[in-house]
Amino acid sequence: MADPKGFMSTPRQEWPRRPVVERVRDWDEVYVPGALLPIVSAQANRCMDCGVPFCHDACPLGNLIPEWNELVARSDWRAASERLHATNNFPEFTGRLCPAPCEAGCVLAINQPAVTIKNVEWAIAERAWEEGFVPPRPPDRLSGKTVAVIGSGPTGLAAAQQLTRAGHTVAVYEKDDRIGGLLRYGIPEFKMEKRFLDRRLEQMRAEGTRFRTSTAVGRDVPAPELRSRYDAVVVATGATAWRELPVPGRELAGVHQAMEYLPPANRVCAGDLEANPLSAAGRHVVIVGGGDTGADCLGTAVREGAASVTQLDIYARPGGERDAEAEPWPTYPKLYRLSGAHEEAGELRTAPAADADARLFAASTLRFTGDGRGRVKELHVVEVDEGRQPVPGTERVLPADLVLLALGFSGPDRADGLIGQLGLETEPRGTLARDGEFGTNVPGVFAAGDAARGQSLVVWAIAEGRAVAAAVDRYLMGESWLEAPISPHDRPMAV
Ligand SMILES: Cc1cc2nc3c(=O)[nH]c(=O)nc-3n(C[C@H](O)[C@H](O)[C@H](O)COP(=O)(O)OP(=O)(O)OC[C@H]3O[C@@H](n4cnc5c(N)ncnc54)[C@H](O)[C@@H]3O)c2cc1C
Ligand code: SF4
Repeated sequence: MADPKGFMSTPRQEWPRRPVVERVRDWDEVYVPGALLPIVSAQANRCMDCGVPFCHDACPLGNLIPEWNELVARSDWRAASERLHATNNFPEFTGRLCPAPCEAGCVLAINQPAVTIKNVEWAIAERAWEEGFVPPRPPDRLSGKTVAVIGSGPTGLAAAQQLTRAGHTVAVYEKDDRIGGLLRYGIPEFKMEKRFLDRRLEQMRAEGTRFRTSTAVGRDVPAPELRSRYDAVVVATGATAWRELPVPGRELAGVHQAMEYLPPANRVCAGDLEANPLSAAGRHVVIVGGGDTGADCLGTAVREGAASVTQLDIYARPGGERDAEAEPWPTYPKLYRLSGAHEEAGELRTAPAADADARLFAASTLRFTGDGRGRVKELHVVEVDEGRQPVPGTERVLPADLVLLALGFSGPDRADGLIGQLGLETEPRGTLARDGEFGTNVPGVFAAGDAARGQSLVVWAIAEGRAVAAAVDRYLMGESWLEAPISPHDRPMAV
C-alpha cells in the first residue's frame, strides 16, 4: 500500500463526463479526454490492501486489483500493465464497458464509496498501449494442432488469443463482415470507439490468429466439415435470439427490435451508411425494456435527434442505497443508476412529459395503436404492482412513431443451422448444454460465452473465453498452463 491513509484523506473522484450539450452532438466516448490520468494515482491510493480482497472474487476474471492499485499509486505503469494483462486479455474493453461488480465487493464500500477500480483499469490499459507495453506475443513453438473458433465476440476473441499464444493454429469464423460481435455492432461508439477494438485485432493478427469474416458456419461452411478439418471447435456464437412482445399492434410498421436498430447506427459511425434506415430523427421514440440495451438505444436516439424518448422498465424504481437484507455487501445490488444516456435524456428533457428522467418504472406495455395506414402512432402503457398486475386507473398513452424492443435474449440463434448440423444438445432455456470442462455432447466441440451461459457481460465473456481455451488446450495436449478463471457453472455472487 503506497499510502496507508489514502482512503481517509482522498475522497472518491470519478472520471468526469463531457457536458451533455457537447457530447450529444458527436459519437465520441462520453468522458473528458485527459481528465483521468491526473487523478487516477491518488484514487488507486485509496485501496486499503485489506488483506482479503473480495474484489477478486467479485470480478469473474479474478483481476489482481490491490496489486495494480499499488503499482498505479507508485506510477509503475509497466508492472501494473503486466499484472492487469496476467488475468484479462482485453482490459481496454472492460475498463470502458464493465458495470464493475468488483466495486460493489470492495471492502471500502462497506461504509465508504468504493475505490474507482474500473477507472484505474481503464487508465492502466490505455497507458500500456501509449507506452508500447502491449506488443504482440506470438508463441515460441507451434503445437501442430488446429482450432476453429466460431464467433468473434469477446468470448471467441479471448479464446482465440489464449489458444494462439499456447501455440495452436487458430482460425476465427465470423458471419458478420467485421470482427467483434456485440462489441462491434451492438455496443454504440459513444460507449466504446471501435478503433480500440481494431487496435487489439491488429495485435491478434500479428500473433498469428486468422480471421474469416462474412462466413456463417452452418450456412456458408457446413459445420461437420469444419469439425473434421480442425482438431477442436469452440462455439462462441452469442445469445442473439431476441425476446418478443406479443401484444396487439406488434405487427405495425415502426415497431422494431433493438438489435435491428443499433447495428445500422454503428454502421453509420463506421462510414458504411449515410444514415440509419430506422433513424430516430424527429420521431417520438419509446424503448420497451429497462436494461443496458435499452439505454444504448436511448443514447443513440438522442444523438440522432429524436423528438422525444421514453424508456419503459417493468421493474419498480430501485432505491439509491443498498438493501442490506436483500442484497448485502459484497453482492452487486440493484440500485437507481444514471448512465450517461439517462443523464443526457434527463438533462435535455427528451421525455414527452418533460420528466427529468426519461424512464417510466413499473411500466407494462398493453398495446400499440396505428395511424390508420399501418404505422405505429401510440403506445398504451399501464403501471403494474409487484405481482406485475395492472394498477387500475393508471393507463397512459405515449406518442410513439418508433418503438424499440429491448427485452433481452433467450439463447443462440438457430437460423444458420450450426446447432442442428452438429447435433448439439441444448438446455431447456435454449442455451448450449456443456459439461464441467466446457465440452458439448459432440467430442472435440466446446461451447462458451453467451451461447452457453445466456446473455451476460463482457467480463464474463472474456472469462469464458479464457476458461474454454484452457479446456481445449488440455483436450489437445493432455495438460495446460492456461488459466481458467471460472467453471461453466459459476455465477455472480449472490445471497
Ligand atoms: C446492445 C448491447 C449492449 C451491451 N452493453 C454491454 C456493456 O456495456 N457492458 C457489458 O459488460 N456487456 C454488455 N452487453 C453484453 C455483452 O455484449 C455480451 O455479454 C457479450 O458480447 C457476449 O460475448 P460473446 O462473445 O459470447 O457473444 P457475441 O458478442 O454476441 O458474439 C457472438 C458472435 O458470433 C457470431 N456468430 C453467430 N453465429 C455464427 C455462425 N453460425 N457462424 C459464424 N459466426 C457466428 C455473431 O455474428 C457474433 O459476432 C451488451 C449487449 C448488448 C446486446
Ligand atoms: S473487469 Fe469489471 S469486475 Fe473485473 S476489475 Fe475490471 S471493472 Fe472490476
